[in-house]
Amino acid sequence: AIQLRNVRKSYGSHEVIKGISLDVAPREVVTIIGGSGSGKSTLLRCMNFLEEYDSGEILIDNQLIGYGIRVTGDYHRLPGRIVRDSLRDVCMVFQQFNLWPHLPVIDNVALPLRLVKDIPVAEARERARAQLEHVGLAHKADAWPGQLSGGQQQRVAIARALAMQPRIMLFDEPTSALDPELVGEVLNVIRTLSDEGMTMVIVTHEMGFAAKVSDKVVFLADGLIEEQGPPEQIFAAPQSPRLRQFLNTWR
Ligand code: ATP
Ligand code: MG
Repeated sequence: AIQLRNVRKSYGSHEVIKGISLDVAPREVVTIIGGSGSGKSTLLRCMNFLEEYDSGEILIDNQLIGYGIRVTGDYHRLPGRIVRDSLRDVCMVFQQFNLWPHLPVIDNVALPLRLVKDIPVAEARERARAQLEHVGLAHKADAWPGQLSGGQQQRVAIARALAMQPRIMLFDEPTSALDPELVGEVLNVIRTLSDEGMTMVIVTHEMGFAAKVSDKVVFLADGLIEEQGPPEQIFAAPQSPRLRQFLNTWR
């Protein structure tokens, strides 16, 4: 589960996240939509602590993540241990696949297991092979990333994340860098994860996909949640004029 309570984040004097509270229950799929610059990536990066948020609280499975906490106005430094413990269960997949070009596919998936979890090479490769199978790419285990299509590379990136056995997966526009004909295969993998009960937060511009896979859709505008609700509400009966206007540009 993820809980955000009044989270704020600025870059210099530019406040990008302006007080966001959000709950993601276990096994829930929440998609985040919104215009360019509305703060979607920043919010996701705060959840994974790739960015340090300025105030508020983020809890992952009831554990506070962050270096500091405000108690009755005073800022208290927390031990870094808290950050590491709770984040081990969160993995993120990016728009760019960020595979290592000089390693075969199997080792792109296996190497993090060795580096992060100290798993011996034979076992790491075995686990990697199982995850490649999960995304339908067992037959590409010995290929080089450069020999794969974009959709296949993104599925390798997903397998690499899954190999870490996360409890929560974050996706930041996982299909935006893909040719249209390759989008479906990646969305299908993500859909399978949702059927298997993975807790996920997905930033996407694929409205049809969001409508099908989401338990909850969150519309961000200027660093605030402008509207949130079940997909039937957000896509069929949006309340906010801004959301209506946003959806019109995607139809
Ligand atoms: P997009 O749909 O284009 O990916 P987004 O909703 O993901 O947009 P963010 O990337 O979160 O938007 O950016 C929100 C705002 O924060 C933008 O105005 C952006 O310029 C600014 N911003 C993001 N990252 C940084 C940074 N590292 N330093 C300074 N400003 C930043
Ligand atoms: Mg973004």
